[in-house]
Amino acid sequence: MNEKKEYNDVWVFAEIKDHERVHPCALEILGKAREIADDLNQNLVAVVLSLEAEQYLPVIKKHGVDKIIYLSHQNLKHYHERIFTDLVHELIEKYKPSIFLFPSTEVGNALSARLAYRCRTGLVSDVLDLELEEGYADDLLLTDKPAYGGNIHVKIICPKTRPQMCTITPGTFKKKKLEKENIELIEENYHFDEEKIRIKIIGAPTRKDKPSAPLSEAKFVIGGGQGIGSETNFKKLYKLAKFTNGQVGGTRRPIFNDWMPEHLQIGISGETINPNLYLALGISGAIQHVVGITESDTIIAVNTDPNAPIFKTADYCIVADANEILNGLLEHYKVDD
Ligand SMILES: Cc1cc2nc3c(=O)[nH]c(=O)nc-3n(C[C@H](O)[C@H](O)[C@H](O)COP(=O)(O)OP(=O)(O)OC[C@H]3O[C@@H](n4cnc5c(N)ncnc54)[C@H](O)[C@@H]3O)c2cc1C
Repeated sequence: MNEKKEYNDVWVFAEIKDHERVHPCALEILGKAREIADDLNQNLVAVVLSLEAEQYLPVIKKHGVDKIIYLSHQNLKHYHERIFTDLVHELIEKYKPSIFLFPSTEVGNALSARLAYRCRTGLVSDVLDLELEEGYADDLLLTDKPAYGGNIHVKIICPKTRPQMCTITPGTFKKKKLEKENIELIEENYHFDEEKIRIKIIGAPTRKDKPSAPLSEAKFVIGGGQGIGSETNFKKLYKLAKFTNGQVGGTRRPIFNDWMPEHLQIGISGETINPNLYLALGISGAIQHVVGITESDTIIAVNTDPNAPIFKTADYCIVADANEILNGLLEHYKVDD
């Protein structure tokens, strides 16, 4: 078992998205990780692996880090399981972080799982909150995640091994801007035995090719549920979204009805959102949906049932036919039907 006392500092994996920017979720995690590092009186360290990693450092520097460890190489342009795992594992062995946090993305989930195995440590996935456990041990992280389809929240600790690792659902924390003085930049040398590479990645789809809308980054989200009633009505949500620069999302029901693609699902099995405004139309407010919307600044819900559970979460509750409200908005903005 690894010796806990040797492990220090809070690390965040600063994933690079679509070869063009730091993943917003990594920046969100840095905000929360800063609080934890302050409480522990330890350093907050971002880890970046990329082609031309230097270009991402100015953005990361604005999010409260004390240090950035980075590796640059053309083989790091795309995520490669073997290369990334070997290189980051070496960094863990060299610097021994106490806590290592990853965005809950395809890359973050794949990499953290492999690293946890290599380090023989625990990994908690899709965490929705983090704090330090009081009165147990100084650096014991208490993670909170939904379980059993979101019906309960469980608290998980990793008391015996280090680093303590978890992946965090995008949209869980808010980005915080803070630039510390004298940030230490540590460039590590890329070295990897090419003989070990059995799979060569020659290309990957970019954000522009992907159908997924960046729901987790949207400032205004219009959510539709079963109460919208039909595909024809649901299409009006897109019209309103286009006009208002918003994004459409929704519950599991419109996916089952074939009104909406799966990647727009909000909730425990979909996206977590944190917009300035969430307009929930014809949505009952099942817990599996609500866990994905609680970080919204303001929630307006429209439902014909005055006892709909969504009203317990909403800031403004409108008991009305959602389609009437939708039609009224389209009329108000003079959006053609
Ligand atoms: C393991 C598991 C994971 C799940 N993951 C998710 C998830 O990630 N996201 C998710 O959303 N769901 C998820 N679900 C499904 C979830 O439990 C609910 O079934 C779903 O969220 C309900 O969707 P809804 O509110 O659109 O439909 P309903 O529950 O059918 O609610 C429809 C609402 O519309 C109202 N209504 C009807 N007509 C009108 C009208 N004209 N105007 C206004 N209101 C009207 C009704 O009063 C009702 O409150 C999951 C379920 C399981 C078991």
